[in-house]
Amino acid sequence: MPAPLPLRPELRGLEPYGAPQLDVPARLNVNENPYPPSETVVADITARVAAAVRGLNRYPDRDFLDLRADLAAYLAGESGADFLTAEQIWAANGSNEVMLHVLQAFGGPGRTALSFAPTYSMYPEYARDTSTEWVVGRRAEDFTLDIGPAVAMIAEVRPSVILLASPNNPTGTALPLEAVEAVADAAAEVPGGAVVVVDEAYAEFRRTGTPSALALLPRYPHLAVSRTMSKAFALAGGRVGYLAAAPEIVDALRVVRLPYHLSAVTQAVARGALAHADELLAQVDTLRTERDATVAWLASRGLRVADTDANFVLFGTFDDGHTIWRGLLERGVLIRETGPDGWLRVSIGTPAEMTAFRDALVEVAGL
Ligand SMILES: *Cc1c(COP(=O)(O)O)cnc(C)c1O
Repeated sequence: MPAPLPLRPELRGLEPYGAPQLDVPARLNVNENPYPPSETVVADITARVAAAVRGLNRYPDRDFLDLRADLAAYLAGESGADFLTAEQIWAANGSNEVMLHVLQAFGGPGRTALSFAPTYSMYPEYARDTSTEWVVGRRAEDFTLDIGPAVAMIAEVRPSVILLASPNNPTGTALPLEAVEAVADAAAEVPGGAVVVVDEAYAEFRRTGTPSALALLPRYPHLAVSRTMSKAFALAGGRVGYLAAAPEIVDALRVVRLPYHLSAVTQAVARGALAHADELLAQVDTLRTERDATVAWLASRGLRVADTDANFVLFGTFDDGHTIWRGLLERGVLIRETGPDGWLRVSIGTPAEMTAFRDALVEVAGL
């Protein structure tokens, strides 16, 4: 008998996270931007990567203040958050890693992270991986946050980290600033303190008039807003996520990051992409229009559709969502089975991909 592996008991029998990566004509399951970078952008990023490669015998800039300054400037332009300094920005290999840093610094054994479901399926995994207890409340029937019960739950659970996705995944629901303020006020009352993270991975897709929680940062030193270059920015393969918060929060994240976690190549790619932000984000309006059209079309077919400020739409409900999902896949359209039960999520693709989605759904669901 070989010696047993001392795997942590809570990891026994678990499978790694993984949405299917299948080579089908319409890949609408992980909320990517369907438009690849132009050849102009490719050429500029490639030149910057070449310059970085010439120095790869050295470790990269481990504080990467140039990239952090670029990200601060981007947020100032995108959301009017012109008060942010480079010291208030953190970045890592995807906002998933940023969030892990948050849990490593502010969670841990004997502490609790709190969120409200349905929400992003990775949150409980960050908690598990950092030995943080995970507690999840419920969102309202329409997937918004019921402020009264949420505030009561914070007082009762006394979490050290509260995670709010806005726009939420998988529902697309954006939170009004009053909801974030109520949660941040309740967090300020938690003995020992609580950090509130608003995960704005889909912020650039929000509808006109929907605010960003960045505006609240000057008033709440225990608030952080995370963003990513994976979605609107069309850079999912680059693996760059970031967060804006008070310098005290960022300094805590710097303590737990591994040395040189952001490679020189990644930094070059991210700065190159930010230099072409306007071009990379040029299709966001097209995607928002296509999203609103998809919502209207699904509703016109008698389906339930969640209000969405993101680049995806949650719709249903089906007695057997899996059969619908499989039927679409057989027709070359890959979407996501996310739950809640009976609901399916489709990412917004190109017009041709959305036509393929609609045609396949009419056939499979008999709409
Ligand atoms: C896609 C997504 C992210 C981004 O993940 P990256 O690691 O930056 O690619 C973060 N939060 C939510 C809710 C998401 O759906």
